[in-house]
Amino acid sequence: MSKPVLSLIQSDLPEKWQQILSDLISEPKELLDILGLDGSEKPASLAAIDSFPMKIPRPFALRMERGNWRDPLLLQVWPASEEENQVPELVTDPLQESSFNPVPGLLHKYHGRVLLTAVPHCAIHCRYCFRRHFDYAANTPGKTGWQAALDYIKADGSIEEVILSGGDPLAASDKYLDWLLGELEAVPHVTSIRFHTRLPVVVPQRVTPKLRRLLQRSRVRTTIVVHCNHGRELDSEVTRALSTLATDGHTLLNQSVLLRDINNNPPSLVELSRRLFSAHVLPYYLHLPDRVAGTSHFQVSEEEGCRLIAELEELLPGYLIPRLVREEPGAAHKTRIL
Ligand code: SF4
Repeated sequence: MSKPVLSLIQSDLPEKWQQILSDLISEPKELLDILGLDGSEKPASLAAIDSFPMKIPRPFALRMERGNWRDPLLLQVWPASEEENQVPELVTDPLQESSFNPVPGLLHKYHGRVLLTAVPHCAIHCRYCFRRHFDYAANTPGKTGWQAALDYIKADGSIEEVILSGGDPLAASDKYLDWLLGELEAVPHVTSIRFHTRLPVVVPQRVTPKLRRLLQRSRVRTTIVVHCNHGRELDSEVTRALSTLATDGHTLLNQSVLLRDINNNPPSLVELSRRLFSAHVLPYYLHLPDRVAGTSHFQVSEEEGCRLIAELEELLPGYLIPRLVREEPGAAHKTRIL
């Protein structure tokens, strides 16, 4: 490893997407002004913002409907007072990820694959996030730390797939991604790299010709799992960005979270699947929300999830129906519910 890794995470010359990331909406009042909403109707929780700051890219905010407190995009990012609810079964590390963290920055939970917390930040803060309490500071390796993670991958010939997560791996500069992909591609038994990212959805400007060239160059198979929860997130620009990635030959899948008052109804889930398909993305997983502290207002029961999937089966072809899953701490794979 010859380069100062962390200095590569931010590039010197900001592109449009980087300008967007450096100008995120971080104050409730600013968002209320943009949307013409009265904050007294649904006050923001300062305690919630203090523990998990508000971060909203402007292109995402522009897709919200003015004057509508029930907007499904707004509800995903609004730091509601319900985040302060103390619910015993909702905890800070619901998946016990700290038990699967052999070296900083690397999680090894499942056979044949490891996850790298490649970048310690996201373009957006989704209030339901299962990593909202994750210790990114302890999992942002310096030069020596990355060497330890790469050595771990090199030493275990069973690791065929590396999942780049975060934070959001596409929040890194191209220079950093170029370096990281190069290091991983040099490991002979790594044959697949998977990006888990929300960037192409929340800031489609991230899908630049430079990024596309970089991903196309890879010798390994590349899968891009976008995280989209509502059809309204997929406007024409996002659809175009995703379609170009599909045209470049990457496999595109979607994971969404079943969220109360956001997408827990058949019309929303049908619209999401149809719009994803129009953007060349197949619905893959529909997660029950992880039992993470601060998310009681998003929780949906397993019974309701099953009912919704049964209704989708009446309305959609099988390839547009996501698998209903839950992550259980310590399980060797996701738990398939339906
Ligand atoms: S983009 Fe993903 S990791 Fe980041 S806050 Fe949203 S759900 Fe969490």
